Amino acid sequence: MTGRFAPSPTGDLHLGNLRTALLAWLAARARRAPFLVRMEDLDRVTSGVHHEQRQLADLHLLALTHDGEVVRQSQRFALYDRAIDVLTSWGLTYPCWCSRREIREAAAAPHAVPGLYPGTCRDLDPQTLADRVATGRPPAVRLDAARAVAHLGIDPVIVVDDVVAGEVMGVVDDLVLRRHDGVPAYHVAVVVDDALQGVTEVVRGDDLLSVTPSQVLLQQLLGLPTPVYAHVPLAVAPTGERLAKRHGAVTLTALTAQGVDADAVMRRLLGSLGLPVGAGPQHLAHVAATFDIGTLAHDRRPWVVGDM
Ligand code: GLU
Repeated sequence: MTGRFAPSPTGDLHLGNLRTALLAWLAARARRAPFLVRMEDLDRVTSGVHHEQRQLADLHLLALTHDGEVVRQSQRFALYDRAIDVLTSWGLTYPCWCSRREIREAAAAPHAVPGLYPGTCRDLDPQTLADRVATGRPPAVRLDAARAVAHLGIDPVIVVDDVVAGEVMGVVDDLVLRRHDGVPAYHVAVVVDDALQGVTEVVRGDDLLSVTPSQVLLQQLLGLPTPVYAHVPLAVAPTGERLAKRHGAVTLTALTAQGVDADAVMRRLLGSLGLPVGAGPQHLAHVAATFDIGTLAHDRRPWVVGDM
């Protein structure tokens, strides 16, 4: 078994992110398994080395140790491009020139399926396709989900059995696999990396539950194994909104500035999970020894973060 934590280095980790990291770490260490850290910095506009260093420093302060080098998605585009090109060579993708506005407008049409790409660029006739290519505007690359499902000979409804959330079903959309600016999509990167890094257990935030069926379809298409998934509850502010910086001191740096140190934060995180409260590497090792991610099963209540 191998576990991982894969933050996007776009800012400081908040208490919810740190709690997810703790759970992923405990799940791996409970089985004395490796725990990897991967920086999901595909979007080089919002990601930064500075954020990455602060995130790694926070994990270190909380004694959430990781194994091996930190992997950065920004350095692995060739791997993701290869996966997309394979799908293209099988006729399972198509170029898409739609702007966000065009998609919004087409999606509002009466025959459109809510939430799904309206299919504007799927199966363009040769003349229209030639005209689009002639504009010189670079297209995005989309998965042709219906063809992909037919290629695999599977049901269009993909079912995922999640350790925490139970059975999750989803119909896969025509996902963007590569953006028009050439950046590979997160869904492609995440499945390629988890497989290449030998990750067998993915513990991550509940917000990614709904996209998991899409990732499972990509795994099946690319012949990659599907890891065990455990989507853990998010942290929310007392108002019920998803936790964010504007809700006050919710990062380790901000809390430290208020005199709440890393040990106190760890005690708070463990307490929120009903785990024995303490801090430091020895205490964590002790908690990990009896930890079972399965005890979270079906408890999907978000963690309400009040004042520290
Ligand atoms: N990078 C994603 C995030 O920070 C997590 C992706 C994953 O764990 O699969 O939300």
